[in-house]
Amino acid sequence: MKGKLHNLIFVGMIVGLVVGLGLHYVLKGAEHAGNLPPAWSQTLMWWLDLLGPTIFMGALKMIIAPLILASIVAGVTSLPNMSELGSIGWKTLVYYVCTTTVAVAIGLVFVLTVQPGERGASTEVRAKREAEIERIAREFESTSGKSARTADGEATGEFRSHLATESGDAAATGENARRYESFSGKKDQTAADLFRDDVIKPVLQNPFAALSASPPNSLGIIFFALLLGIACTVVGEKASQVVAFFHGLNHVIMQMARWLMAISPFAIACIMAKLVAENGPGIFETLGWYCAVVIGGIVVHVGFLVAVCATIGGIGPVRLWQGIREAWMIAFTTRSSAATLPVTMQNVKEKLGVSPKVANFCLPLGATMNMDGTALYEGVAVIFLIQIYGGLADVPFAMTMGVTLVIFITAVLASVGAAAVPDAGLVTMILVANAVNLPIYYVPLIFAVDAFLDMFRTSTNVLGDAVGAVVVNQLETRRRE
Ligand code: ASP
Repeated sequence: MKGKLHNLIFVGMIVGLVVGLGLHYVLKGAEHAGNLPPAWSQTLMWWLDLLGPTIFMGALKMIIAPLILASIVAGVTSLPNMSELGSIGWKTLVYYVCTTTVAVAIGLVFVLTVQPGERGASTEVRAKREAEIERIAREFESTSGKSARTADGEATGEFRSHLATESGDAAATGENARRYESFSGKKDQTAADLFRDDVIKPVLQNPFAALSASPPNSLGIIFFALLLGIACTVVGEKASQVVAFFHGLNHVIMQMARWLMAISPFAIACIMAKLVAENGPGIFETLGWYCAVVIGGIVVHVGFLVAVCATIGGIGPVRLWQGIREAWMIAFTTRSSAATLPVTMQNVKEKLGVSPKVANFCLPLGATMNMDGTALYEGVAVIFLIQIYGGLADVPFAMTMGVTLVIFITAVLASVGAAAVPDAGLVTMILVANAVNLPIYYVPLIFAVDAFLDMFRTSTNVLGDAVGAVVVNQLETRRRE
């Protein structure tokens, strides 16, 4: 049964997809006919939500915070000396920076070549917005008695701010109001603010608050765990019981992760069914080209990671896939690298042969900071929106080298700041949009496909972390030889 878990998870995904599609048509059919959905379908949705997102993901989230704490303390304290920590640490960080940069570059090449914002239904989206801006301009002129445009046809500052207020209000009351509000608070955040608020402040938090936050403050836990581990090593013999406690805790939490993996095929079916039932296949009608670009970029980046793993890490594609497939499928379905962390740890240590010293340190750090799929997606999404709306009254610019460079840098930063939970990339994308002055009320256009794309970026994030652990492990082994 154990060896077949990946097959069962795959079956769970397919069953979830089929049940979800059936349920989607039942719910949609009732909506079109103006009826309430049948009672059984609502009951089924309720149970899917309970068994998948609530119980399974809840249980995974329950063990993340203690797992990060225990695994990093165990990792640091099992190193023979501090120079080894430094050696693993810098290799890990260099790997993260390089692969994330490559991911963003691949995304930018794809989106600038394919130009999804100028194809298919995107042109209609732009035409609709143009007409809407004209209507708002006429209203503005008749109520204020002032012209909306200067002599050269550019929008006046006053009209632009009127447009921004109107459009922001429309986004905040439309169908995506709740989601829009969750990130509109970040609309004035700069890259420096993000660094202070989302990196420095969380790092220096009371560890108990960091452990009990929801989702847990992983950066805070990691920093505290590193300090704790280093202090234990410095103190030596007197700290031996503390060290033994964290090593024991690490094993215990991994045992809990194994129990959860045993029920994962069933839970994955429930999560998938609920997601598909809610979204259905219609979401691709307007955003097909955009999705194709994100997924195309991700496929190429996965190819790059596989090549890195084979050449530097010494593990070929087949062995890599066999080792990581359970974590990959769980990441794909749960859309959370943090929730997948216990499975990634287990797969990387037990199936890819990475030493616990390296895995215990690299993987929690990677789940928190290394998000290749998210970085790629953020760059593509912002450029896609500029391609659609660039040149309109409230987006008075087009893609230039300067704008591309700003997007490049902020996408890397925003991916580091993103939490490892579903939809997090959408929130930190606001930083990238702000950096180039793209109004954030345009972001809801891509809400519809976000959950779908989150599956691809999260599974890529997890793959990037696993390959990172393999590469660092291999480099460390060679260094010691
Ligand atoms: N869901 C992603 C993750 O957990 C983050 C994102 O939204 O891009 O890795």
